[in-house]
Amino acid sequence: MDNQPTDSSISSYNYIIAGAGCAGLSLLYQILQAPTLEGKTILVLDQNLEKSNDRTWCFWETETSSFEHLVKNSWDKISILAPSFQKELTTAPFTYKMIQGLDYYQFIIENAKQSNNVSWLQAKVLQIESSTNGAIVQYEGGQVYASKVFTSILPFQMHDLLSAQKYSLPHPNIQPFLWQHFKGKVVRFEKSVFKPNIARLMDFNVPQKEATAFMYLLPLNEKEALVEYTIFSETILANTEYDEVIAAYLSKNYPDQSFEIIHEEKGAIPMTQFDFASPSENIYAIGALGAAIKASTGYAFQFIQQQSKHIVHQLVKNKDISTKVHTSRHQFYDAVLLYILQHRKMQGAVIFKKIFEKNEAATVFKFLSNTSTFWEDIQIMRSLPTNIFLPAALHVLLRR
Ligand SMILES: Cc1cc2nc3c(=O)[nH]c(=O)nc-3n(C[C@H](O)[C@H](O)[C@H](O)COP(=O)(O)OP(=O)(O)OC[C@H]3O[C@@H](n4cnc5c(N)ncnc54)[C@H](O)[C@@H]3O)c2cc1C
Repeated sequence: MDNQPTDSSISSYNYIIAGAGCAGLSLLYQILQAPTLEGKTILVLDQNLEKSNDRTWCFWETETSSFEHLVKNSWDKISILAPSFQKELTTAPFTYKMIQGLDYYQFIIENAKQSNNVSWLQAKVLQIESSTNGAIVQYEGGQVYASKVFTSILPFQMHDLLSAQKYSLPHPNIQPFLWQHFKGKVVRFEKSVFKPNIARLMDFNVPQKEATAFMYLLPLNEKEALVEYTIFSETILANTEYDEVIAAYLSKNYPDQSFEIIHEEKGAIPMTQFDFASPSENIYAIGALGAAIKASTGYAFQFIQQQSKHIVHQLVKNKDISTKVHTSRHQFYDAVLLYILQHRKMQGAVIFKKIFEKNEAATVFKFLSNTSTFWEDIQIMRSLPTNIFLPAALHVLLRR
């Protein structure tokens, strides 16, 4: 062990991973893939290590990763629908893919259980503080020390929010801030009703709730699909409101067809550039806490993969650790889009319709992955009317 705490009664590790969700487990996986880090002791700490299928991750990529065998379904076409608008786009060279949360958690946990250096602790974390040459994690029932602590635990509990009827922002001064909140159901129809190779990325033909709202429909086969009502707004809806919209959508689009609901998921993702993590020595924020979520879209899975690989690269090279994933240029575009959405300078339905109307899916995916060239960025931004985009861009520039 490189840096022991002064109090020898505290268990010590090289690394503590606080929060074993997407980011914590992705980082664990990447550490265990690095031969140079073999032998490092790791404690994984979470308030609930009994993982469930609590979310489905979708993302796009051009190649295959170590998680390809976990891909439940993939699509090479997407569609965008809005009132009097419908467009199908091929995604090549990208493929849009889906991984179920539980498959991902189980794969990484099983893989890690083969290593003697990984310890597991189910406990609620109360505080994480820097200490001499490391950091101390206080949990209900004790404390542990490590040279480096990686945490994905947000200062507020997302799941507690979802039971609330209405939710006021945790930090009213945070600007911009929207929740991307949603409820999804996997439905199984008796008859074939879906086109399995087309992912319906956004269908704006749903109640907009004075915000930006769309249905996301991912067919798993001709009879089954994940149907998710998604809204970008400042407050979260009551559970029944999502249910009513999904029921109305299914009966309008697939009239007189009977179906059963086989799974449900719900969530709320913060869309903001506010930094929830307070910088402290030897404590590194990852995942949603570590700003891995793309503020204008809520996508995070691929950014979390990049962040984990980048951290491990720095650990291997013994470099100072940076967890930054988004380029400043793309953060600027995110801020502009978020400003337009939050202040309703233009309806979300119109923004996304214009972007997909005038661009190839691949260009949009590159833009949303922060890998577009400056010329491609201009192409995307030119899809929006100048009288909307320019004042918003100016506002964001002046606020910086
Ligand atoms: C339902 C849902 C669907 C999503 N779908 C997509 C998608 O399709 N594509 C995409 O790119 N992104 C998606 N996201 C966004 C993002 O990828 C996920 O939110 C991702 O799980 C974030 O990873 P994380 O590790 O930061 O947080 P989490 O995965 O939420 O992990 C945090 C962990 O911390 C633990 N924890 C919390 N508080 C404490 C505490 N006090 N003590 C101990 N442990 C604690 C939790 O139990 C949890 O295991 C989705 C999010 C949700 C909620």
